[in-house]
Amino acid sequence: MESKELLRKYFDPVYTEADFFKYTFNILNKFGFTDENCIASVCVCRDEISQSLRSHIIQIWGEAFNFSSLAGMFTAGKTGLKAAIHHAPKVDDRERYVFYVIPHIAVDEGGKTGFCKRKGIKEFSSACGALCLFLDELYTGKLHIKLDEEDIEESILKRRLIKEISYGDIPSLLELTHIARKVIQEDLELAIGKVVDTSKSDYAMLTGIQIHAPDGNYIWPAESYVVIGGVKSELKVE
Ligand SMILES: [Zn+2]
Repeated sequence: MESKELLRKYFDPVYTEADFFKYTFNILNKFGFTDENCIASVCVCRDEISQSLRSHIIQIWGEAFNFSSLAGMFTAGKTGLKAAIHHAPKVDDRERYVFYVIPHIAVDEGGKTGFCKRKGIKEFSSACGALCLFLDELYTGKLHIKLDEEDIEESILKRRLIKEISYGDIPSLLELTHIARKVIQEDLELAIGKVVDTSKSDYAMLTGIQIHAPDGNYIWPAESYVVIGGVKSELKVE
């Protein structure tokens, strides 16, 4: 079965990664964002199978600032965001930033979530592994949310995501991936609200979920918008 058809059960529509980035680049061009006048930044997982996102972004926008840790959580904080915007081109007295928020999930040939194949490994492997570990702790009833200095990123992830889950609930991996996307966007927006001065800058927020399917990677587009001169306009990425 073609992956697009397989994925329709969970994600509709989906784009190939190349198409998604070309498409969003073209949309943003209409709002004045070009590869010459803006800086891109990303919240994507550290997983090597998520780095194709960065490769596409670099090809289209140039080198991108990385805000994220495991699962794509926004952990760079106000300091990271201040650094990124400090590095933005200043063209016609304005700065422009493009933020991509894209956590990930795998879907195997049978339509099961969380499993993918990796180069040189016979067994199926999990994606997103960091979210799967958190889910395992929920399933076994042994959730460790103490800040572990030897496992900083995973413990921050668990402490942040548990706040979004009702007591006693155990989300599916698919649900948790959607929660992660929303949380990453919200945490980044919180920092943007404190750091970005919209009287001198415009920005775009593009969010979605990267899906590792049997025949390649896809992106399901989620909430996306631009803020131009302080005015927010939703983008229809569908
Ligand atoms: Zn991951």
